[in-house]
Amino acid sequence: MSMKCDLVVVGAGPGGSMTAKTAAQAGLKVVMLEKRQEIGEPVRCAEGVGKRALCEMVKPEPEWIAAEVKGAKIYAPDGTSIVMSEDKSGSEVGYVLERKVFDRALAMQAAQAGAKVMVKTRALGLIKKDGVPCGVSAMRLGEPLQIEAPIIIGADGVESKVGRWAGIDTTLKLKDMETCAQFLVQDSTIDDEYTEFFLGNSIAPAGYAWAFPKGEKLANVGLGVLGTRSKPGEATRLLNEFVKARYPNGKVLEMVVGGDPCAGQIESTTSDGVMLVGDAARQTDPLTGGGILSAMQAGIMAGEVAAKALTAGDVSKAGLKEYEDRWREDIGKHLSRSYEFKEFFVKLTDNDLNQMLGSLKKEDISKMDLRGMLRVLFRLNPKLLWELRHLVV
Ligand SMILES: Cc1cc2nc3c(=O)[nH]c(=O)nc-3n(C[C@H](O)[C@H](O)[C@H](O)COP(=O)(O)OP(=O)(O)OC[C@H]3O[C@@H](n4cnc5c(N)ncnc54)[C@H](O)[C@@H]3O)c2cc1C
Repeated sequence: MSMKCDLVVVGAGPGGSMTAKTAAQAGLKVVMLEKRQEIGEPVRCAEGVGKRALCEMVKPEPEWIAAEVKGAKIYAPDGTSIVMSEDKSGSEVGYVLERKVFDRALAMQAAQAGAKVMVKTRALGLIKKDGVPCGVSAMRLGEPLQIEAPIIIGADGVESKVGRWAGIDTTLKLKDMETCAQFLVQDSTIDDEYTEFFLGNSIAPAGYAWAFPKGEKLANVGLGVLGTRSKPGEATRLLNEFVKARYPNGKVLEMVVGGDPCAGQIESTTSDGVMLVGDAARQTDPLTGGGILSAMQAGIMAGEVAAKALTAGDVSKAGLKEYEDRWREDIGKHLSRSYEFKEFFVKLTDNDLNQMLGSLKKEDISKMDLRGMLRVLFRLNPKLLWELRHLVV
């Protein structure tokens, strides 16, 4: 079977669906491919997002919001905790989503805007003419499928192949990848009002553990370990230990494992006729691992740029440069700061973490954002934070 369109989007996660929706709204003929038979499943995500940024892009719907939190509690290895308000806690704190429903709702919005959504359809490679991508070859329900299109979007997640097929280097070093494991836990001691983060090298070496409440004493409880500090099965082993210690009577209802990029900006996210979006473009926040919002933001940009490039008749790398410039100016700046902070964070010992969080205990940080908190931390621990002084001023 073969077909033709203006834009093929590979992957129906938040990044792919926002690209497809935006491009279809701009009048493009869009096809979005998803290899799974059900969009949004299985969920490999703690499902936390910041409210304000999300609501700037989509209208919140009760059916995909599992819980709303007041803020974040961050625990040092010695148990000292600090509390931050929801609006200052970054891109993972505000709502806890039901991603099975959320991802499907975004794909539905793309379809309502006019995009053709094809599930159980796996992209297998790029069709090229004189070395330039001009479509996607795929397998749909056991049948080969060829889709010709001048622009292809790789929104195919952390294990992205579209980038590689297009000659874009998306290789992740072990030090730029968190190995994660997560359980859905039911326990009467779960804090339904706050998203909780637990720091400590014995809990999650060079990473952190989390508990994101989903209401009714359910929570996504997980942890991520830096690739260089992990080995096969390590994240699951540590998570079992953490859950046993924190929720001794907790019941584990689901389990997932997955990788989360924590890299700096990659050199390029475009090539002739191709743009990468979301995890495929390594646009995840390297410090927190949050990537839903940046994938959606980048998707909107990619959809808009695709429409402009087609109107201008230039889908070459140069013609798609606006996408590269826009996301780096916006999402990219934040990623670069976060990467520096992450590179600093992974070197901290448990004593350093205890000292830093302990020093904040006497300060009123409830309304501070990360930058404000860094300033206070720097004032209180100048020696420890000397490396980050340029981020503070
Ligand atoms: C354990 C864990 C916890 C996390 N918690 C959070 C959190 O709380 N908050 C947050 O913001 N982020 C979190 N993240 C990150 C977040 O899940 C991702 O950043 C986000 O899903 C990226 O969206 P995306 O659209 O780029 O990719 P994805 O959501 O991964 O979507 C990619 C889609 O492409 C499809 N696909 C792949 N290959 C093909 C192919 N060849 N053909 C067709 N389809 C294909 C996949 O099936 C998938 O549906 C977490 C990640 C992990 C691993």
